Amino acid sequence: MTMPHEIPPRSGVAFTLDKGQRLTVIDPKGEQVADLLAFARDDVAEVISSGRTLDYASRIYLTTGDRLYSNRSNVMLDIVDDTVGRHDFLLTPCSKDTFRIIYGDTDPHRGCFGNLAAALAPYGVAEDMIPVAFNCFMNVPVNGETGELTVEPPLSKAGDRIVFEAQADLVIGLTACSALQSNNGSFKPIHYEIAS
Ligand SMILES: [Zn+2]
Repeated sequence: MTMPHEIPPRSGVAFTLDKGQRLTVIDPKGEQVADLLAFARDDVAEVISSGRTLDYASRIYLTTGDRLYSNRSNVMLDIVDDTVGRHDFLLTPCSKDTFRIIYGDTDPHRGCFGNLAAALAPYGVAEDMIPVAFNCFMNVPVNGETGELTVEPPLSKAGDRIVFEAQADLVIGLTACSALQSNNGSFKPIHYEIAS
């Protein structure tokens, strides 16, 4: 068993994932969110789509057996294992503006959005091409009557994981989320592994 890669707190990475390879995203300490993006490697205008995926699933909470679709309705990733069962696919990556508008920060961190933009730039992804991310371990319950959303502590405990299988050759963006509210008040690392 190889050592997992580590994404330090409040940072992000990008890497390629070949069709058929498996990506395991691990929460090593518990209660830490990881924002995941996937782009088609041969044309980064094709990207995971929350709207398409939730439409086809007819559910907002996705887990083992669910498929993440692109804006062109191709399957990009399958969720093949999941020890948590609660992730979010509604909210955009946290950003400078998130921290300014929601937290009132006067000198805000660039957030997952800025971390993803920086990591994905070498692959030809511009800021305006970044969509809603699949937010691993993010816990966003919805009031079924009013539609009100709240951001609650993740249900993930130390060592919990979600495993994806690539259904195309992809570029992946992945973060250790930078928003206090999403991570129950502290910033922790995220681990990931890639296997054939
Ligand atoms: Zn974030």
